[in-house]
Amino acid sequence: SDFRESDPTHLAEAVRAGDRRALARAITLIESTRADHRATAEALLAALLPFTGNSVRLGISGVPGVGKSTFIEAFGLHVIGLGHKVAVLAVDPSSQRTGGSILGDKTRMVDLSREANAFIRPSPAGATLGGVARRTREAMLICEAAGFDVIVVETVGVGQSETAVADMVDLFMLLLLPAGGDELQGIKKGIVELADLVVVNKADGDLAATARHTVADYRHALTLLRHGDWRVPVLSCSAVHKNGVDAIWDTIGEHKAITQANGQRATRRADQARAWLWSEIRETLIDRFRAHPAVRADLARLEADVTAGAMIPTTAARALLGSFLGESAVP
Ligand code: GDP
Repeated sequence: SDFRESDPTHLAEAVRAGDRRALARAITLIESTRADHRATAEALLAALLPFTGNSVRLGISGVPGVGKSTFIEAFGLHVIGLGHKVAVLAVDPSSQRTGGSILGDKTRMVDLSREANAFIRPSPAGATLGGVARRTREAMLICEAAGFDVIVVETVGVGQSETAVADMVDLFMLLLLPAGGDELQGIKKGIVELADLVVVNKADGDLAATARHTVADYRHALTLLRHGDWRVPVLSCSAVHKNGVDAIWDTIGEHKAITQANGQRATRRADQARAWLWSEIRETLIDRFRAHPAVRADLARLEADVTAGAMIPTTAARALLGSFLGESAVP
């Protein structure tokens, strides 16, 4: 491959032509925090934007050990067999702290990673969930422009990352274990309600009967759970035996057909783009605020006053915002 990576137009052409080195380089570029890289990254994304949007965007979550990577591998191989191209991205804000990431382990998804029509990218190391989410959204757009028509965004079933992932995909799928209710499974409150599709994995061997009970329990519990016209289905599968994966893909197809016909998919994507705009604005403002010399000079003292109960937070915020905006007072 031969592309000038400092030239966004040229890099965009190489990405669209299916050059894998260009794809990897483009994603490294958008993950960079260097100001000059950011400018090139945004020019690259602008060049690719007309060629994005033509994929099924799928989020997958579940507690560690539920079988996410086993499932994604079986699922990815299945849809590649149907002629699709699959990109797997990860959202794992803990990768910064632990130095590894959920997809960093090279032993995961070995068979899928060997496929020419698969692209697997670990979570970018980022300090904040917001930063990781932004880069994953941008990586998703780049993968779409590169011709990947199924994008899987994986996240761990801990913390707030599920909400971030549900906010960037067309369909959010929750993997469950054959076991009792949410609390027994270690699922955070409210996460099940984010799901557009619930799948009980490990429905095989000794666990098959328990899996059937779990499916029945969740079907009962989720009878009233709807997202627009979509009633949330509860399915089962065995990722290791590759059973039920085809039915899950068919259900994802039904969801796409229904939400495209009734306009919900377009509305959801538009809402997501608007929310992304506002989170960019918020994050950028907060970063600039924290970096502002006058704010830096006063922040520690005012924060100490507030925590000691010596100053009302509103007054401290007004003083800091006044310094930031270069005003003597903010109304
Ligand atoms: P993750 O942490 O959610 O990515 O889970 P893994 O995919 O790494 O799977 C955790 C463990 O569960 C591994 O030992 C898998 O072999 C096993 N596992 C995954 N899927 C299944 C399944 O469908 N049936 C059974 N019996 N075991 C499974």
